[in-house]
Amino acid sequence: MGVRRKQGWLSALSLTDDHGVALSGVIDHRLTRRALINEYRRGRLRRDQVCDAHPDLVRAARNFGDETEVRCPICVDDNVVLVSYVFGPRLPSHGRCITRPDELEEFRRLAARTRGGDYTAYVVEACRKCGWHHLLRSLPMASPQAGAHRQAQ
Ligand SMILES: [Zn+2]
Repeated sequence: MGVRRKQGWLSALSLTDDHGVALSGVIDHRLTRRALINEYRRGRLRRDQVCDAHPDLVRAARNFGDETEVRCPICVDDNVVLVSYVFGPRLPSHGRCITRPDELEEFRRLAARTRGGDYTAYVVEACRKCGWHHLLRSLPMASPQAGAHRQAQ
């Protein structure tokens, strides 16, 4: 695959190593992404159906997005950036946008401390130009054994 990223701080969230081996508890959404892009290219989806990022996400992408070298698959005008959100106990229902690299590490420590504390990180790719966005992957932030009890949602 031609998806190469700079070593941004979000690469710490990588769910696969360079050989594509998935880590436990991590859900990869890249296949859905590819299917969606194909539908768009075949004309079965309109641009406004795939480029409908919420204003909050667009703002987060502009301010906190982790740069990539991946061209936006829709407008091909800008590179997509990665934005991550953490969901879990005592966090807002729409999740908490990660704005600093060390914040993720704080959540990881918190998840390890609070046994059963169910923190999940969601990584979204977004285009700052056209509003294309897609969930790339979700991964439990707790210890591996806690990840085993992941609920199907
Ligand atoms: Zn775009």
